[in-house]
Amino acid sequence: MGNITSRLTELKKSVPEHVKIIAVSKYHSVDEIKEAYDAGHRFFGENRAQELLDKAPVLPADIEWHFIGHLQTNKVKQIIPYVSWIHSIDSYKILKTVEKEASKLNKTIKLLLQFHIAKETTKYGLDIEEATELMKKLHQKPLKFAQPLGLMGMATYTDDQSRISEEFNELNRLFQWMKGLWFKDIPDFKEISMGMSDDYPIAISAGSTMIRVGSRIFG
Ligand SMILES: *Cc1c(COP(=O)(O)O)cnc(C)c1O
Repeated sequence: MGNITSRLTELKKSVPEHVKIIAVSKYHSVDEIKEAYDAGHRFFGENRAQELLDKAPVLPADIEWHFIGHLQTNKVKQIIPYVSWIHSIDSYKILKTVEKEASKLNKTIKLLLQFHIAKETTKYGLDIEEATELMKKLHQKPLKFAQPLGLMGMATYTDDQSRISEEFNELNRLFQWMKGLWFKDIPDFKEISMGMSDDYPIAISAGSTMIRVGSRIFG
């Protein structure tokens, strides 16, 4: 068994069934991704458009690709043919662009709204006010191909476990608030993407449904 396979197997033992593991393959080669694929894994994440475009076309078509990085509108068109999920929707403009490009391919794209929960200003994401504005616009003009199904967030990079826990709990509260206010009638609005290699157990305790794990799988 290769290292990637054994790390993936170990990780799966420690993660409940209902939590989806997105293997974040950024900086890692097609061969490394293939090892995880051959071990049965199908959910992969990339955070840069160019890297996704270099890898996705030469890998098996039944991989479910998750785009998890900050996305510029001019990159949307290129990645839409490959991605199933985009975790990093942080403006109405990007949402509209996804709708436009997805409609051209008649393809539904599953989306998560990224919220800014960390203390660091370097991280992207919506606050409550921005999310409210975005939802009002969405409500006036519902989209067909771009489907928001939950929230995503990243905790502050810190050793302070209680702070990380607070931030993940805050994202869960934001999710409940959004669900109650805007997505009551959409049963599939149920995803909370939070947790990475160093903090995924805390995220799972706080209600994560998708963890994005890179280094713990790929080294
Ligand atoms: C790189 C990355 C991850 C994975 O980070 P690891 O610490 O390697 O697990 C998760 N989410 C996003 C948005 C990333 O860019």
